[in-house]
Amino acid sequence: MAEVVVVGSANVDLVLAVQRIPRPGETLLASDLTRGPGGKGANQAVAAARAGASTSFVASLGADDGGALLREALESSGVDLSLVSTSGSPTGTAIITVAADGENSIVVAPSANADLKLSAEASTGISQAKIVLSQLEIPLSTVQAAAEESAYFILNAAPATDLSDELLAHVDLLVVNETEAEAIAGKDFNDLLTRVPAAVVTLGADGAVILSRDAAEIRIPGVSVEVVDTTAAGDTFCGVLAATLAAESTTPRDLTNAVRRANVAASLSVQTAGAIPSVPHGEAIDARLA
Ligand code: ADP
Repeated sequence: MAEVVVVGSANVDLVLAVQRIPRPGETLLASDLTRGPGGKGANQAVAAARAGASTSFVASLGADDGGALLREALESSGVDLSLVSTSGSPTGTAIITVAADGENSIVVAPSANADLKLSAEASTGISQAKIVLSQLEIPLSTVQAAAEESAYFILNAAPATDLSDELLAHVDLLVVNETEAEAIAGKDFNDLLTRVPAAVVTLGADGAVILSRDAAEIRIPGVSVEVVDTTAAGDTFCGVLAATLAAESTTPRDLTNAVRRANVAASLSVQTAGAIPSVPHGEAIDARLA
């Protein structure tokens, strides 16, 4: 059984390079179009596997070219696909426009992701995993079911939305960026602790902050790097965090060590273009940490 189970989305990313993000009603010509594997769940599963954890992915793919593209990318990174189901709907698609200044806009058609439910086998994998990691590009009822069956549940609450106390009651660690933190608890990040026992807020180039009911706030500074493309930085952070926590034998878990490693991994990912292609391997992360 896998140490880390990621329950989440898988999308084909269609990336359009444009001079600037189009205004409402405007048509622009793109200078380039690329098609590649992505989706928060798939990116995070690849990040956990490349960081060294045995990782299984619970997801729903279409029986189409996009599904085959994702299977190939996940399998070649060492992610176990035995809990992936095939839907009658097409594979999810994200249309991403990236402007010359690096700004982007993203619209996701969930398609097969909207059909994801937990099979009996998936529930067994989830209940036996050390760490379960999920995001919000799949039905909330599936996230809730996974949370209830997990020994340790990490929720990356992305894309941003407010969440029910019923779900947050089962979250051991919440990982959010600043926008997502605000959607859940308002401007003061400390208010997250009224809803979950521990949280990590990622701060882009400024690193991350760890908040816990049991300890004082800890800031992990950003790593100064040349930024090429920030796509999947947050996903790399979450996957590596889950993998590093799964490797710890002590309780309570050492969040500081895991967040340091996740932060270094995410800083490596922003130096390479693309989603899955930019996710680093454990050796590169640990060489940078040493
Ligand atoms: P998201 O991409 O989900 O909005 P952030 O922008 O907070 O989340 O980035 C997630 C993590 O990626 C950060 O905590 C940091 O580790 C890393 N990161 C993002 N942008 C940079 C950057 N410009 N320089 C170095 N690290 C970065």
